[in-house]
Amino acid sequence: MNPCLGVIFVHLYKSMQKENVIWFRNDLRISNNAAVNAAIESGQETQAIYFLENSTQKIGPYRKTFLLEALESLKTSLIKYSITLNVIEGNVIDEIERFLSQKKPMRVFTNKGYAHDEVEQELLFAAEKHIEMAFYDDGFLISPLALPFEIKDLPDTFTEFRKKLEKIGLDRLVGEHVPNSHLSISENSAQIDTLNRHPKSAFPFRGGESAALERLHDYLWNTRNILRYKETRNGLLGTEYSSKLSPWLACGCISPQGIYAEIMKFEREVEANESTYWLVFELLWREYFRYVMLKYGSKLFLPGGIKEAKTETEPNNANQLFDTWTNGRTGDDFVDANMRELKQTGFMSNRGRQNVASYLVHQLKLDWRRGAYYFEKMLVDYDVFSNWGNWAYLAGVGNDPRENRVFNTQKQAEMYDADKAYRKYWLQG
Ligand code: FAD
Repeated sequence: MNPCLGVIFVHLYKSMQKENVIWFRNDLRISNNAAVNAAIESGQETQAIYFLENSTQKIGPYRKTFLLEALESLKTSLIKYSITLNVIEGNVIDEIERFLSQKKPMRVFTNKGYAHDEVEQELLFAAEKHIEMAFYDDGFLISPLALPFEIKDLPDTFTEFRKKLEKIGLDRLVGEHVPNSHLSISENSAQIDTLNRHPKSAFPFRGGESAALERLHDYLWNTRNILRYKETRNGLLGTEYSSKLSPWLACGCISPQGIYAEIMKFEREVEANESTYWLVFELLWREYFRYVMLKYGSKLFLPGGIKEAKTETEPNNANQLFDTWTNGRTGDDFVDANMRELKQTGFMSNRGRQNVASYLVHQLKLDWRRGAYYFEKMLVDYDVFSNWGNWAYLAGVGNDPRENRVFNTQKQAEMYDADKAYRKYWLQG
């Protein structure tokens, strides 16, 4: 054949071929990531994209910093596989539309999203004829396919959900999730312009897959603090009262299956006790809220929540009350200390979150969704399912079987901060 013709054919063939694109979302890791695995195994040239939200109303400085670190770390790991990660910053929907307007034939590998915004984004991709979508499901501990009931039959209480799963056995339901040993993670050595961490932060860690694995290793194998988790998990000060895995889990630097597998290994090789069980128990809470969203969809964002409860009108000075809450100036020292911690660091303990949420709903009588939106912006570990699920639960419009779960914040302070160390830490100096 004429060599010129050959070159033209190769060019034509290549332009007809679909390019592989990994669309990263809340799965910023390469191990235990089915979408990444499938793209690499296809052996074809692959690119990667991530759409980064730029609205400061939706994403505050702490999560943004953490995300940028996670993306930098991912970028470094992908280079080894000759994959370039393009981070596209802007209004996510606008940027996706712009990206798709190139009309390039693509095979897009991604882990499926289940919340409203994520599904909306997927629909934009799916509407394009030149795009072939390959969906995976690596955000769950127990895949929807392994659930022993249909989503519509999801129990409306966590206890019933947990018991149903435990009856079958979590090992069986989680299945075999051996980390992809042929994919190796790079150290996050990249220097990026990030906010300095607050010196008092209970979460001083960096974003990225290697940092997540390091923390998991530390909490289990080095300090063995997991063996005390059940006694310390209501703590308020420092890095060690709980696992602190939530920010990495939220953006997917680590997978729930990866954590589960490591806890099981620890139980086999070191010790299994109530505390090791309790960490898995909490991971099941995370799982439960994901399934609640699958069952009820956007209903969870309505004022009356999934219960379609009647809602009350806010007081006339609602905006002013809300400001005192966000700025830690309500006059309730326990609430104020927690709200100041959140504002200054992007983190708050689970005990704190329960108290400040209850205070906003029951004492200030504000619409619970104000609090949920504020947490969405401020939390370094914001996760749509856990945040909205917990807020709805505490506001009495979610999955709480108990009516009116009101926390007496001063009693709670006496119980969990008897020596006032936590309150002094955030309210003085
Ligand atoms: P650990 O105590 O070590 O628990 C281990 C893991 O279990 C956590 O990382 C988390 O993935 C899961 N977990 C623990 N408690 C819960 C819970 N109540 N609900 C769901 N999952 C849980 N968690 C988030 O990850 N993102 C959020 O946006 C979020 N918003 C919340 C809002 C409110 C009002 C409340 C009350 C809780 C919220 N939580 C949220 C749950 C919980 O407070 C955090 O997961 C936990 O404090 C994170 O710290 P940790 O990783 O050290 O948790």
